[in-house]
Amino acid sequence: MEIAVISGKGGTGKSFISAALATLKEKVLLADCDVDAANLYLIFEPTHEDEAIYIAGESAVIDHKKCSRCGLCISYCRFDALSFDKEHKVDVNETNCDGCRLCAKICPEKAIVMIQNDKSRMYSGTFRNGKMVYGRLAPGEENSGKLVNMVRDKAKKVAKENNLDTIIIDGPPGIGCAVISSITGVDHAVIVTEPTISGMHDLKRTFEVTDKFNLKTWVIINKYDLNEKISKEVEQYCRGKNIQVLANIAFDPGVVQAMVNKKSITEYAPNSVISQQIENAFQKINTHGK
Ligand code: SF4
Ligand code: SF4
Repeated sequence: MEIAVISGKGGTGKSFISAALATLKEKVLLADCDVDAANLYLIFEPTHEDEAIYIAGESAVIDHKKCSRCGLCISYCRFDALSFDKEHKVDVNETNCDGCRLCAKICPEKAIVMIQNDKSRMYSGTFRNGKMVYGRLAPGEENSGKLVNMVRDKAKKVAKENNLDTIIIDGPPGIGCAVISSITGVDHAVIVTEPTISGMHDLKRTFEVTDKFNLKTWVIINKYDLNEKISKEVEQYCRGKNIQVLANIAFDPGVVQAMVNKKSITEYAPNSVISQQIENAFQKINTHGK
């Protein structure tokens, strides 16, 4: 069973829910697919048993010995990735470079070559409640969802090899390619939302995506007590769409304390109300099955 925990935007508490679901009694495979901002490895400190390079497109590199400084490439680059530096040498802004290769094609001196962006990685190893696979996208490298696919393929393989029936996926926020890659083919999608106007808007957008993919979708309202009026509106929306709200989680500083202590809330405060709610949520999903 694959459960993807997602949210329409960052900062809703998605990762703390994923961490809690990953540290209940049952051993699991935890796949951190939030490759732009992977953070669960910081809490769980998994061993590194395998590492793979992810090639995230290409970047332009200038051969300054060949470059005549004509400036043609700068005027053609639509991504503002090229400029003259203080010494009037062509400088490449790697973050802006889209790898389109236009500059390399039009350079009269053949002074531009394309090199692969190879700083992003996928890791897999063991953590204290099973196996963990995660991706780390290097700053400025492109997240087209391919690294997420790589993490998910590896997660399925490792889960099978280790007889782990449950895969918990911590998905990226938003509704872009990486999210689509995180939820394609999963058995359950859990949308974590907060009771704010923007949270409600993001929930609707996210549900539109999971609905298109025909996924069994659940909702967790985090910090529901910060605005009980909007929480009720969220519940009403969910009822209208036939989505079950798994839990209304109250604001609790213990969640942050748990993270500071490199623990999930279910490890840090196993008898707390939140831990009980997460346990119940998992049971509901599990009972529903595939
Ligand atoms: S087009 Fe080629 S020769 Fe002209 S500035 Fe760019 S790199 Fe240099
Ligand atoms: S590869 Fe494309 S985006 Fe990158 S510097 Fe060249 S023209 Fe600009």
